[in-house]
Amino acid sequence: MLVTGGAGFIGSAVVRALVARGAESVVNVDKLTYAGNLDSLQEVSADPSYYFECVDVCDQGELERVFRTHSPTAVIHLAAESHVDRSIDGPDEFIRTNVGGTFSVLQEARRHWTSLPPADAERFRFVHVSTDEVFASLGTGGLFTDVTPYDPSSPYAGSKAAGDHLVRAWRRTYGVPCLVINCSNNYGPYQFPEKLIPLTILNGLADEPLPVYGRGENVRDWLYVDDHADAVLAVLALGRVGETYLVGGDSQRRNIDVVREVCALLDELRPDAAVGRHESLIRFVADRPGHDFRYAVDASRIRRELRWALSVPFDSGLRKTVTWYVENRWWWERVRSGVYRGERLGLDARR
Ligand code: NAD
Repeated sequence: MLVTGGAGFIGSAVVRALVARGAESVVNVDKLTYAGNLDSLQEVSADPSYYFECVDVCDQGELERVFRTHSPTAVIHLAAESHVDRSIDGPDEFIRTNVGGTFSVLQEARRHWTSLPPADAERFRFVHVSTDEVFASLGTGGLFTDVTPYDPSSPYAGSKAAGDHLVRAWRRTYGVPCLVINCSNNYGPYQFPEKLIPLTILNGLADEPLPVYGRGENVRDWLYVDDHADAVLAVLALGRVGETYLVGGDSQRRNIDVVREVCALLDELRPDAAVGRHESLIRFVADRPGHDFRYAVDASRIRRELRWALSVPFDSGLRKTVTWYVENRWWWERVRSGVYRGERLGLDARR
């Protein structure tokens, strides 16, 4: 099994789940950008099934070596630049990795797949992990379905949409056995503290302002990361080749309500007399350009066809997440100080 982006937030959850379920071999191909962190894989790094390859997915030569060395039975492609705000400030890396990198991984997977004996080729799978942001914005009603037309707003969403199109084209033109997942917002342990939930938790713990875009009215559907990892493994094992699976948490929340819920949990788990109620730290800031109003997916196909089910509802998932950050300072203090990759993060990178 080859997992790209396995040192990232979702990728590390997928790698941990694969190792826990006894996968024969799990090869993590990751370049270790600012978002890649081997600390997130501590619990599996000594497992004999786990291998790490520090490789850029845009490097075709290195990919060829990795595929020849490990001869994977499947590819789960998660490596990407993933932060919308960064894509607005500097789209270049997003195009390079999310479009060019997806192209390179597809090309190598295709070369490898065509070289496999027929029985192995029959079983080979390429699972591409993408986002619901490719569909743009919903108004107050309705859900994205697998026939919603693509209409991306941000450079991040555009680059992911381009990657999705390449994956489908490699399936139709070359027959590579690809499947696509479009998933809603993930949250949980080991998420880099630039995203809304961990940023709010860590700023709240440090008595720093809690920035919220606009008036916090934008709505996202939240999914606990281990439920997403389960969905990825279900699609890998049981999904129909050529199919698209939408995955979501059935938990639509306004950003402001998510931030308030984090504040209430901090009040309970880490009461701070100097701050009083953590809600007092909320600061509304100028809205993100092109900020889509609402995303929410219809996940009925994966539930119906692959028997996937949510196991962590939002309220308990958020409690688990806040508790994890409170109890795992070692992880995020190394991230915030830059020790995890030998450099220090500037404030701008966190905001
Ligand atoms: P992340 O930013 O936490 O991790 C990305 C990983 O990819 C990092 O380990 C990074 O080092 C690696 N990477 C980046 N560029 C690379 C390159 N050129 N070569 C090799 N490795 C590279 O991202 P995430 O939140 O874990 O997201 C993983 C995937 O899931 C992405 O494809 C993302 O688009 C998708 N997704 C994320 C969410 C979400 O809410 N986080 C929701 C839906 C889909």
